[in-house]
Amino acid sequence: MAVKKKKIGAAGRFGAGYGKVKNKLIAVERKQRVKQECPFCKGRAKRDGKSIWLCVKCGKNFAGGAFHLKTQITKNN
Ligand SMILES: [Zn+2]
Repeated sequence: MAVKKKKIGAAGRFGAGYGKVKNKLIAVERKQRVKQECPFCKGRAKRDGKSIWLCVKCGKNFAGGAFHLKTQITKNN
């Protein structure tokens, strides 16, 4: 009888053998799903590339964290 394996989280697609990487990825992807706020108009920001964010509302481009806008560094500033 075939056993259906339970897939855990968003990184379940990787299968076995990615333990550490997988846990990191899950954390990153979870943060990506959170709404990113534009610092200029408080509108919604979209990731436009690595560390580059584009505001949907005012169309401004700005730098931020690679995967999510508010990193530990930007929070401290
Ligand atoms: Zn904006």
